[in-house]
Amino acid sequence: MLKTGSAALAALMLAFGTCEATPPGAPSAQEAAAPSTPTVMVTRDGDAWTAEYEMDRDAPVWAFFRSSLISGSRKPWRLEQWRVLTPGVVLERIGDRDVLRAADGGPVPRRVSIAFAPRTENLEADYSVLVFTNGSVALPSGQFDIFPVASREAVAEVPADLNGHPLETGPAMVTWRDRGGEILFRGRRVAEATEAEADTYVLFGQADLVEGAGLTTVADPQLPAWIGDAIEDFAPRVADYYARRLGPGETDHPTIMMSWSGPTPGRTSMGGSVLPGLVVMAFEGEGVVQPSEPVLGMARWFIGHESAHFWLGQTVRYERARDAWITEGGADLMAIRALEAIDPAWDDRGELQKEIDDCVRLADEPVAEAAGRGEHRANYACGAVFALAAEAVQKRATGGDWFDFLRPLIDTNRADGVLTRDEWLTALDAVSGEPALRRDIEALLDEGSDDAGGLIAAVLDRAGVAHEREGGRIILR
Ligand SMILES: [Zn+2]
Repeated sequence: MLKTGSAALAALMLAFGTCEATPPGAPSAQEAAAPSTPTVMVTRDGDAWTAEYEMDRDAPVWAFFRSSLISGSRKPWRLEQWRVLTPGVVLERIGDRDVLRAADGGPVPRRVSIAFAPRTENLEADYSVLVFTNGSVALPSGQFDIFPVASREAVAEVPADLNGHPLETGPAMVTWRDRGGEILFRGRRVAEATEAEADTYVLFGQADLVEGAGLTTVADPQLPAWIGDAIEDFAPRVADYYARRLGPGETDHPTIMMSWSGPTPGRTSMGGSVLPGLVVMAFEGEGVVQPSEPVLGMARWFIGHESAHFWLGQTVRYERARDAWITEGGADLMAIRALEAIDPAWDDRGELQKEIDDCVRLADEPVAEAAGRGEHRANYACGAVFALAAEAVQKRATGGDWFDFLRPLIDTNRADGVLTRDEWLTALDAVSGEPALRRDIEALLDEGSDDAGGLIAAVLDRAGVAHEREGGRIILR
């Protein structure tokens, strides 16, 4: 019954970018233990925001860990929102990175002051600033991390995905403070907070904070009340379902932070992301002011997908950013199955069909390289198709479902926290007993295909997912 509305809204949601389960190039724990790092003081004073950097060493270039682009325009957001106050230092884009550089080619001064004007932008696979209607602002903590690079030229040699790439320094030690009052840090009001690799959102200003049984919500005071109510009702149910099927996740008491950009005419939009213990949602538009089935369906879908990352994304994460199909597609199928279990009237077939259609459309080139092309959607759609295949072979083997395939993969990797592509595909081999299934999936990941539809149909055939071909289209039965 939600089919029409939810399809249209899902398209809107996609226009609002992708969620991010595992930071691309998050500093590793090993690097976090490094003795020396830059420090940053982030201060709000009314409308004035500053970041005061203190570098721990001389370097001609400092590059930002997180240098993602604005969805749509593909422009670097930092260059629009940040302004360097220290003379002789420039902020610019080199290749895949935003960097601070000394204009004269020498070392960047040890102290660099930056003024910034935080604004909500939807970023490609990265966390956006959230601006509330009452002036409160939530900043993603990872925005301030930098690392030294030997030269401008060397920046181009740093891989876009920093996972596994050695760096000289760990993440910056960042202090957050608001001259106007306390900040909200990890669900608590504090005068200031200092942490490296906090991996969270820091809220400056007031918000409605509700401490529930299995959930804390932090909402814009103007957010339409029905949305907060619906989420407080639904989120614990979906989390209970996942915990029942997969065992404990990264958290059993998440915080859900909801911002509201106001009833913009002609708009119905929702975006957001997940971090350890925290789901962030941003709502905007007149279309979400009144309760409606399509918006409710979209919000539930969103909670289903983002909460899934507390298991697939945080309890176990991927090894490399190119493996995001494991976490994004897997979270999609988790959400589809959970929503179906909680609300039998929910249109799971429509969501699955959309995954197949999108994967066929996007797998003409390698899925593993989709992010570099700005086609993040391929990780969701093709990852869900591969998960659907794994589910079908699990069903054939044991009568089980997607969660039965996933649970041992999570359990055997709880200790190291990483679910690699090889582990995923080897498990598929073991359950299916048919190496050609793995081979076809690997072809889609590494090569793509001029006949993506034919190859995807072959994957579904081998796995035993019922479907038919109508013209070039694969229709699920
Ligand atoms: Zn996701």
